[in-house]
Amino acid sequence: MNGQALEPKEIAVIGGGPAGLMAADVLSAKGHSVTIYEAMPSAARKFLLAGKSGLNITHAEDYRRFVTRFGTAADRLRPALDAFTPDDLRSWAAELGTETFVGSSGRVFPKAMKASPLLRAWLRRLEAQGARLLTRHRWSGFAGDGYVFETPDGRKIVRPAAALLALGGASWPRLGSDAAWVPWLGAEGVTVKKFRPANCGFDVAWSEGFRDRFAGEALKSVVASSEAGAFPGEFVLSRHGIEGSLVYAHAAVLRDRLEREGKAALLVDLAPGRSIERLTRDLARQDGKASFANRLRKGAGINGAKAALLREIAPQAARARPESLAAEIKALAVPLIGPRPIAEAISAAGGIDLSAVDDGFMLNAMPGLFVAGEMLDWEAPTGGYLLTACLATGRAAAHGIAAWLAATGY
Ligand SMILES: Cc1cc2nc3c(=O)[nH]c(=O)nc-3n(C[C@H](O)[C@H](O)[C@H](O)COP(=O)(O)OP(=O)(O)OC[C@H]3O[C@@H](n4cnc5c(N)ncnc54)[C@H](O)[C@@H]3O)c2cc1C
Repeated sequence: MNGQALEPKEIAVIGGGPAGLMAADVLSAKGHSVTIYEAMPSAARKFLLAGKSGLNITHAEDYRRFVTRFGTAADRLRPALDAFTPDDLRSWAAELGTETFVGSSGRVFPKAMKASPLLRAWLRRLEAQGARLLTRHRWSGFAGDGYVFETPDGRKIVRPAAALLALGGASWPRLGSDAAWVPWLGAEGVTVKKFRPANCGFDVAWSEGFRDRFAGEALKSVVASSEAGAFPGEFVLSRHGIEGSLVYAHAAVLRDRLEREGKAALLVDLAPGRSIERLTRDLARQDGKASFANRLRKGAGINGAKAALLREIAPQAARARPESLAAEIKALAVPLIGPRPIAEAISAAGGIDLSAVDDGFMLNAMPGLFVAGEMLDWEAPTGGYLLTACLATGRAAAHGIAAWLAATGY
């Protein structure tokens, strides 16, 4: 092994996603010497992927509502979010030449929709501030007081004055965040909660005929409910089950219920425009001798994938009385088998227990080592909350590092 000692003030940022780059940005702007170690051949691959379907970078809802989106972690994340609010985030993006706009749902996007112009400008600024980015440098654990990296030139050990781990969660591991670090921190006494899929799809036991005919079709203009609430929108019938933003909005409570009770269902209102009373009346008016498809179409405005889903989940509905049929249509319980694998999820729940870090995001068990981003145990729905919290915790950890270095006399 080659030992490579760095200058005392060197700060190692390990992981070049949004959280790590934000920390490197803050620290290098303050004049610290920063090296970013990134395992992949380029930085921020998940951030770039997030931009493929329209980068939802933050949310413009009332800030008092915004800060409640992080569930049980909301109180711990609050100071970091207060110090980097959605408005601050939009100003930060604008400084990097990325103007943003508020979409109809309150979600905030770059005008260009993509992540790549913002990332390019950000990497240019980091370089101008003197931050070094070393790609293909995979952190592979501790060696005494050093950090071991696998690099194209072999194994290196670095001994920075302080380090930040910003290694992401466990979703989409092929983009870099593979959670290989969990046992290394566990061995140092850091509590890491098991990673679980968040903002994910679910498996449903479709019949073969239904799967072959309807996989890929969208169920539009429905309302889906669970303990999380009742939200309008659309979702997609996949080969495995159900996917899409309306499903993700319910994913945390459905996943938890499946873990607790072994079963859970998403309630779907296939005709949200009509009350159950009106639907019952409209269905009762239909000719009893007409086909079920016709009665549904004329009496409830339901056809195509919606009608097929009703038949698939509630085959008895075809013979049901109007009031029972209306009840099925208004609250069709789609039974779920389990969440899709974490490798397909938008984000992960679980990670480093927030009780394991101090207010500056330093690990209590490992002075001088800080953590930020999705590798911490918090979760939030889609809507720009994920990136906002990753950037805000990256920033807070950078301030934590600067304060710790000052306090310890570096
Ligand atoms: C398809 C998709 C769409 C998304 N869309 C949105 C969206 O629109 N809005 C939103 O808010 N969020 C979105 N997200 C979530 C968001 O991208 C993540 O929450 C965010 O990227 C997490 O940032 P992070 O810096 O904590 O981790 P990551 O972005 O995962 O970055 C971690 C980095 O650490 C590197 N790394 C890991 N292990 C090592 C190691 N051992 N050594 C060195 N480097 C290592 C990884 O290669 C990676 O570059 C989306 C996610 C996905 C998958």
